Amino acid sequence: MARLLEHQGKDIFKKNGIPIPKGKVAKSPQEAKQIAEEFEVPVVIKAQVLMGQRGKHGGIKLAKTPAEAEQAAREILTMKIENIPVQSVLVEEMLDIKKEIYMGVTTSGITRAPVALFSVSGGMDIEEVGAMHPEKIFSKDISISRGFFEFDARNLLRKVEGLSGNDINAYSQVISRLYQVYRKNDCKLVEINPLAVTPKGVIAADARIDIDDDAIFRHPELGIEISEEAGAREPTPLELAAGQIDKNDHRGSAHFVQIDPDGSYAQKIGKISIGYDCVGTGCAITLFDEIYPLGYYPVDFCDTSGNPTSLKMYAATKIVFSQPEIKGYLMVTGMAAQQLDNTARGIIKALKELYPKTGGKPNIPCLLCFRGRSDEVAVNLFKEHGISDSPFFKVLGRNNTEKSAADEFDRLYKKWKKETGGI
Ligand code: GDP
Ligand code: MN
Repeated sequence: MARLLEHQGKDIFKKNGIPIPKGKVAKSPQEAKQIAEEFEVPVVIKAQVLMGQRGKHGGIKLAKTPAEAEQAAREILTMKIENIPVQSVLVEEMLDIKKEIYMGVTTSGITRAPVALFSVSGGMDIEEVGAMHPEKIFSKDISISRGFFEFDARNLLRKVEGLSGNDINAYSQVISRLYQVYRKNDCKLVEINPLAVTPKGVIAADARIDIDDDAIFRHPELGIEISEEAGAREPTPLELAAGQIDKNDHRGSAHFVQIDPDGSYAQKIGKISIGYDCVGTGCAITLFDEIYPLGYYPVDFCDTSGNPTSLKMYAATKIVFSQPEIKGYLMVTGMAAQQLDNTARGIIKALKELYPKTGGKPNIPCLLCFRGRSDEVAVNLFKEHGISDSPFFKVLGRNNTEKSAADEFDRLYKKWKKETGGI
């Protein structure tokens, strides 16, 4: 699902006649200050990230003066919300909010059609309202062939207690326009939470728009290159380097992704960070099942399969070992058809370059397990190069399982920790 940032959503609202506050995007505290000066009114500074509940995370701040706006923007722009760095803020004129209304059009999984939603309990987490007080959410299924008109919205709102005629007129105009936004842009969800009721009328204080992935190609005007999810992050330098390996040589794959780039997740759950490389994703999963209960967490996912050349293995191995927080390395193959001797040659070349002083013996415990074509040759190569002489380096052969490889690694790690104190 391609979710738009709040300011992108608000641009679309504006084009469709839904009132939005005056606002501009800033990427630096200075820019935020200039915008506040230009507006000459108190402003709100809002983190532009693809997740909700920014308010609760401190991503929304009020500023009465340009100096306060600068300070608030500085705080928000150095903040991470659910681990995602904030790269821009929306600076908006502050609204005098008297009431917060929720409204949305979403796609119902039951009818596989749009449904309009309305609640006077806006501003809050609407899922929570729905769970605790389903009676506070009013909905109307929509048929796309018939459409959804202002009078349909008025009929829906007449069921809501305590709304005046003026309220009903104002809200129904916005909901029916929200439905136009939903249809025109092939949305899965459009949401205003809250629609601010102010002395100057109703204004969309927030905007959430999710576009159907399969329809993105129909909307070049939205400028969506890839569909972004909440949690999307930039590729890391190591991932970018790994991306080049496949570009330079099509043979085999070197698929490398960092699961826990700074090792903070492993730390949080009390596991030991390890570098990980498997031949075959099935092997990676099975090995994970064995290694995780023993107290280890792979901070990367790496699959070097499809018969990569030695050179490719060499480059991929250097990348896996370049993760600073790893306290061990596991390289296991499934029963592989690929030339495992080449795989071994690439790893050996990388280790010799990474650890020149010890002739390629790493300073962390390493367990490798070769199963498949030329596996014996692979095991022997490590002996020939003297690398498996290290007490903390072990190469296993065909008669092993993911379970025995994981157990062997655990023994190696404990021995290493006891004898060297670890790193
Ligand atoms: P979300 O937390 O990510 O959903 O961000 P919202 O844009 O919905 O803002 C959260 C809350 O901040 C709103 O429910 C309002 O209570 C408050 N807020 C946002 N903009 C304004 C504003 O212009 N004036 C005032 N007084 N409050 C605002
Ligand atoms: Mn909101």
